[in-house]
Amino acid sequence: MSDGTLDILVGGAWRPGNGARYATTFPADGSSNAELHAADAADVDDAVEAADRAWRATGWRDPMPHDRARVLYRIADLIRDRHEELAQLQMRDNGKPITETRALVASAANTFQFMGAACETMEEEITPPRGDYVTMSTWEPMGVVAAITPWNSPIASEAQKLAPALAAGNAVIVKPAEVTPLLALELGRICEQAGVPSGIVSVLPGKGSVVGDALVRHPKVRKVSFTGGTATGKSIAAIAAEKMMPVTLELGGKSPTVVFDDTDLDHAVNGVLFGIFSSSGESCIAGSRLFVQSDIADAFIERLVSKTESLRIGDPRDEVTQMGPLISHAHQGVVEGYVRMGVDEGGQVLAGGARPEGGVFEAGPYYRPTIIGGLANDARMCQEEIFGPVLAVLRFDDEEDLLAQANDSVFGLAAGLWTQDYKRAWRVARRLDTGTVWINTYKQFSITTPFTARKASGIGRDKGRMAIREYMNQKSLYWGLNDAPIPWAG
Ligand code: NAD
Repeated sequence: MSDGTLDILVGGAWRPGNGARYATTFPADGSSNAELHAADAADVDDAVEAADRAWRATGWRDPMPHDRARVLYRIADLIRDRHEELAQLQMRDNGKPITETRALVASAANTFQFMGAACETMEEEITPPRGDYVTMSTWEPMGVVAAITPWNSPIASEAQKLAPALAAGNAVIVKPAEVTPLLALELGRICEQAGVPSGIVSVLPGKGSVVGDALVRHPKVRKVSFTGGTATGKSIAAIAAEKMMPVTLELGGKSPTVVFDDTDLDHAVNGVLFGIFSSSGESCIAGSRLFVQSDIADAFIERLVSKTESLRIGDPRDEVTQMGPLISHAHQGVVEGYVRMGVDEGGQVLAGGARPEGGVFEAGPYYRPTIIGGLANDARMCQEEIFGPVLAVLRFDDEEDLLAQANDSVFGLAAGLWTQDYKRAWRVARRLDTGTVWINTYKQFSITTPFTARKASGIGRDKGRMAIREYMNQKSLYWGLNDAPIPWAG
C-alpha cells in the first residue's frame, strides 16, 4: 500500500499506477471496495519490457512442461485455500450473488489444474516423411501476451486466459475491466506465491481506451486474448491486422433458446429462466431470445411468466438470492432503454419491465426479470445484445421456420434446445450457426470442452486442452538424413 491505495503489479513491482486515482465500489450499495491508481500507457510499456526481459531471462519458457505444470497446480491449490475469501471479494467486485461467485472461484482453480495437466501431457508430432529427412511439428510459446477481460465474471475469465497462456510458457499482462480489478490483482499475488518468476505476470487495471489500447498496439505484445463487447473486439482485430498479430476474441451474443412442443415443460421453464436471468442476464451466453413452438406457446409463456414473478431478487450477500444488482446505474439505464425500445417497437411487457422498489433496492441498480412478447425477430430489441435480465419471447411453426429465425442474427455464440426427440435435436443442433448448443440443459460449462464462437461473437477458443495452442506458435523441423550433398548445386 502507498497513500492508502491498493498497489497494482507492474513488471514484478507492487506500486501505484501512473494513472488517475479511482475507487471501485460494491454495486449493491455503492460502498467503496478499494481505491487505486489506474495504470497508464507508461505502465504498459514498463510491464511489457519487464515481461519480455523476464521471459528471456528467467527460463519460464524453458523448464520441462511437468515442472511448469507443478506451478499451475500450486496456483490451483492457493486459490482453493482462499476460496471463501475470494468468493466474497468477487461478489463485492461486481455484485453477483455469493452462491454464484463461489462457483466462479472453484472453476478458476479447476482451470489452473486442468491447464497444468494439459501442459504436461501435450504431445508434439513426428509427421510422415516425404523425403530423406525426418519431419517434426513442434510448439513454442509466443513471448509476451495480453489478456483483456470484462467485468461480468472476472476471476473465471482471467483464469481462462492466464492459465493456458502460462502453461504454454508465455509472460502475461492481464488488463482487467476498470471497475473490477480486485480478483486479477489477487491472481497476480497468487502467481508470485506459487513460484511464477517475477515479471512474468503483470496486472494493469485501468481504462480500456488507455491501457487496453496501449497493450494491443505495443510492438512486443505478440498476441491478444480478449473477452468483451463486439465493437471493442472489432477495433482490436483491426489493430491486430496491422501488426499481423493473432487474436482470440470472445465477444457478445443474442442466443436463442428453443422449446419444441414435445418437451417436458417444467424442465424447459426452469432451463429458460436459468439461461436468461441467472447473473441478472449479464452473461455473454444469456439465452435472450426464446422461440416457442406455436401450438404450446400460450401455455408455456403463462407458466414462464408466473415462475418469473417468483424469482428471488435481492442482496447478493444473501444465500437465497438468485438475482443481484446490475453492475452500475449507467448499465441499469441501458437496460431500461432497451425495454422502452421493445415497447416502442410494438412489444408487450409480460413480466417485470421496471426497477423493484423499497428496502435494499433503493441502494443499488436492480432491475426486475423482464419478459417482452409480441415482437418479430427483426426488431432491434431482438437483434441487439442487452446484457441484462430481458427476454424476448417469439414463436415458430416448424424446424425450417425456427432455423431461419434463430440463425437470423449477427451473433453466433450459443443456443439451447428443449425436445424429447433426439433425432430432431441432432438435426437442429447441427444446423444452428453457433459455437455451443445445449440440449435439454443450458449454461453448463466444462473446462474439458472448447468454447468457440461464430460470426460477430468472436474467433478462436477458450477452454479444452487445445486452448494452450492459442498461445503458442507452431514450428516445423526437418532433419536431413542424407550423407551426400544436395545434388542441385552440382
Ligand atoms: P468491453 O468491450 O467494454 O470491455 C472489455 C474489456 O476491454 C475491458 O477490460 C475494457 O477496459 C477493455 N477495453 C475497452 N476498450 C478497449 C480498447 N479500445 N482496446 C483494448 N481494450 C479495451 O466489454 P464489457 O462491457 O466489459 O463486457 C461486456 C461484454 O463482454 C458483452 O458484450 C459480453 O457479451 C461480452 N462477454 C463475452 C464473453 C464470451 O466469452 N464471449 C464472456 C463475457 C462477456
